[in-house]
Amino acid sequence: MKRILAVAGLALALAACGNPDAPGAPETPPPAAEEAAAPAAGVNGTINVYSARHYDSDKAMYAAFEAETGIRVNVRESGAPELLETMRAEGARSPADVIIASDAGALYRFQEAGFTQGVSSEKISAVIPAQLREKDGHWFGLTKRYRIIVYDPQVVSADEVDTYEDLADPRLKGEICVRSSTNIYNLSLMGEFIGRNGPEAAEEWAKGVVANFARKPQGGDTAQIEAVAAGECAVALVNHYYWVRLATGTPEERMKTAKTQLSFPDQDGNGTHVNVVAAAVAANAPSPDLAIRFIEYLATPKGQEMLTTENKDFPIVAGSTLPAGLEHINGFKESDFPLSELGAHQAEAQAIFDRAGWN
Ligand code: FE
Repeated sequence: MKRILAVAGLALALAACGNPDAPGAPETPPPAAEEAAAPAAGVNGTINVYSARHYDSDKAMYAAFEAETGIRVNVRESGAPELLETMRAEGARSPADVIIASDAGALYRFQEAGFTQGVSSEKISAVIPAQLREKDGHWFGLTKRYRIIVYDPQVVSADEVDTYEDLADPRLKGEICVRSSTNIYNLSLMGEFIGRNGPEAAEEWAKGVVANFARKPQGGDTAQIEAVAAGECAVALVNHYYWVRLATGTPEERMKTAKTQLSFPDQDGNGTHVNVVAAAVAANAPSPDLAIRFIEYLATPKGQEMLTTENKDFPIVAGSTLPAGLEHINGFKESDFPLSELGAHQAEAQAIFDRAGWN
């Protein structure tokens, strides 16, 4: 009953704002009971979601939102750079209401281009910690991922890989596999390193890691784990969910993780680098109120579950169910570095990587 009251209240609020996409005058009374038929998608408006994600489970997530709210969801799925270019071409006429992308550094690029708008939502602020969302409401972190170290315990010991600094230690010469520095995950990790330690220490670190490379940076994060499994290197820097997907995958995939272990770095220091999948309200959103409502839905336990079930990120909102495979991965310390600040260091991070030879 509570939920229905909330929905009816929102409809009135939207109508009061004179929003053209607000539901028309509530001629049809709200359903009298929870089990009343779900509203048909589209009767309460439409939103256009530009998403850099590509999971089958997202289709179910959009469908669940449509069934619950009667708001139709049109989705454009593409890589973040392509979505950025699309919005650039569309200009002020962009039909995008919501932007979803992985990594605060990616959201920064949309914000920097002027494609997001600052909004506030008490519902989101109440459940998402401040350091995981943009300070002026330009984007909101929704699920968490950690940049961790995967290693072969037959070659290196746990205490040789328990900090990010360790990756630059000459003991690991010829043992490290990483992807390209143009990848946003590496740029954001470096952004935190610069923010905490300054650019000079960051460059020293990058040079040390490069000196330990087993091979030229190549492939995605999964390819780094596969290289450890194949004995090509003993240490890889990856986002946790790539390992978890393999560990919960086919027998062949599980084989690749069987002889590897995970290190969540910096447990005695600042904690492991955390990043987010995040959503933003587009600058020229035709239906900004519905866009906020959709992001609020993603910040409910049900939305969180649908966002994480397939991709193996960690939910942020208390009371959400953990996706399968994460049950035994918890209790570690995570960094509290404000993700809003990563973007400010992005260009410098790339310049440092380039000078260090991390291509
Ligand atoms: Fe990823």
